[in-house]
Amino acid sequence: MSKHSQATRALKRRLGPAVDTSEQGCWAASFDSSKISFLPEAVITPRKEAEVGVVLTLANQHRVPVTVRGRGTTLMGSAAPIAGGWVIDMLRLNKIKIDDEAGMVHAQAGAKTGEVQRAAAQAGWFYPPDPSSKEFCTIGGNIACNAGGMHGGKYGVTRDFVIALRGFLPTGELVEWGTATKKYAAGFNLRDLWIGSEGMLGVVTGAVLKLVPAPAARWTLLTAFADETQAIAAARALFRLRVQPAICEFLDRESVVCAERATGRPVFTGQPNRAVILLELAGAASEVKEVSKVVLDWANEHALAHRAARNRDEAEQLWQVRRKCSGAMFELGDTKLNEDIVIPMRAYGKFMTFLAGLKKTSRLAIPTFGHLADGNLHVNIMFHRADADESRRAEAAVERLMQTVVSLGGAISGEHGIGLAKTPFLRIQHSPAQVAAMQAVKRALDPKGILNPGKMFEIYEVWKQPKLAVHLPWDHK
Ligand SMILES: Cc1cc2nc3c(=O)[nH]c(=O)nc-3n(C[C@H](O)[C@H](O)[C@H](O)COP(=O)(O)OP(=O)(O)OC[C@H]3O[C@@H](n4cnc5c(N)ncnc54)[C@H](O)[C@@H]3O)c2cc1C
Repeated sequence: MSKHSQATRALKRRLGPAVDTSEQGCWAASFDSSKISFLPEAVITPRKEAEVGVVLTLANQHRVPVTVRGRGTTLMGSAAPIAGGWVIDMLRLNKIKIDDEAGMVHAQAGAKTGEVQRAAAQAGWFYPPDPSSKEFCTIGGNIACNAGGMHGGKYGVTRDFVIALRGFLPTGELVEWGTATKKYAAGFNLRDLWIGSEGMLGVVTGAVLKLVPAPAARWTLLTAFADETQAIAAARALFRLRVQPAICEFLDRESVVCAERATGRPVFTGQPNRAVILLELAGAASEVKEVSKVVLDWANEHALAHRAARNRDEAEQLWQVRRKCSGAMFELGDTKLNEDIVIPMRAYGKFMTFLAGLKKTSRLAIPTFGHLADGNLHVNIMFHRADADESRRAEAAVERLMQTVVSLGGAISGEHGIGLAKTPFLRIQHSPAQVAAMQAVKRALDPKGILNPGKMFEIYEVWKQPKLAVHLPWDHK
């Protein structure tokens, strides 16, 4: 008999076919992209918003842990139901409606980010937050993790686009934080408290999101530099010119080698072993034309080589460098610790010196790429799990990385959150008083500790745990 079988029977009586207790259904909801698995006792797929409230109310009555799930693309283990209990799968609550006049989109939490972007584009609008997982992940998951993407530097991240939220408190009451208006100063801002709360302070069922006019023109330029130090110095010079690229992606030399291996061709013929920056301008045609001249002058002065796309097909070819590098990293090790750290621009130089040292002392491949316009770098520590020595070195490297990031004034996570995987480092970022304040908020909103327990505050060393050998559709993307 399962731990919460009486509660699950009560749940089935209330919600009938929305409740799945099959072995297969529970297994599929037992893990996210971290591939650490904990079996729930039931998976509830609400078709109506009110059903979410029913689940939470019953869970509080019977003290059943509940984990909310979008698509399970989080790499942090934040959607893995570590305490068992029930999983709420949000995928069927997925309606999208554009408010053409106000420049807003009303999206249910289970709507996929890519679908929201397409609906916006069809109406001549643009929804900029663009996690690489956008064809899989949901708006609810993006809000819960405050997801970012390549457009972050110019446009911002999910938080910058959330106008209002609707959903349920952990105790099961329906609440609305804000309305579909651009201004709102009525009371405490609990909307922003929910954003980035990783499904621990409430369940989002719907959101009103801001749209911006779709850019009429885009222009893409790939630039090569002798090394990482030259590349970041050049990027800082570009920002000083007040140029705001829509995208400014950096790849270190190790990442470029990965991309070259995956595409089977050199990034720049005759320029082996270079760090690169991929730039994209977006905006009105006249503005893009004007700014592209400034950028070309900058590239002529700072870069060893550069190549501009003449059309969208050529731009897509340039993009292959960025798209292909991540998957190819698995030739360097079967395990990747993808650390989405953030560094303040003024500390870029110091960080690059540290990273070069870390590669040397750890004797591990650490290909690094990321968004230079907002300091969010993806430091990918590659190792073989079966090799105890490599695993130890990887563990030490992550610890040093996190210490250094915080000492440079940065953040241990820019977009993936804490979940389970970053729990050993939360206290590097936060003082005891800060952690206690966060825990007090959690207790106030979720007195019985129902919603997504075991995350963020309790230390769990996820990379040391056995992982399921499953291949997910978004693996190695
Ligand atoms: C290949 C790949 C690329 C990625 N690229 C990026 C990237 O570029 N930028 C980026 O930011 N992230 C990226 N991610 C991470 C991940 O896709 C994002 O964190 C995404 O926002 C998770 O959405 P999801 O719907 O899959 O949520 P899930 O993984 O299902 O859940 C994530 C967290 O959100 C909570 N949650 C989900 N839905 C709700 C809801 N409705 N209400 C309350 N809480 C909820 C869950 O409980 C959990 O804590 C990537 C992941 C992969 C695998």
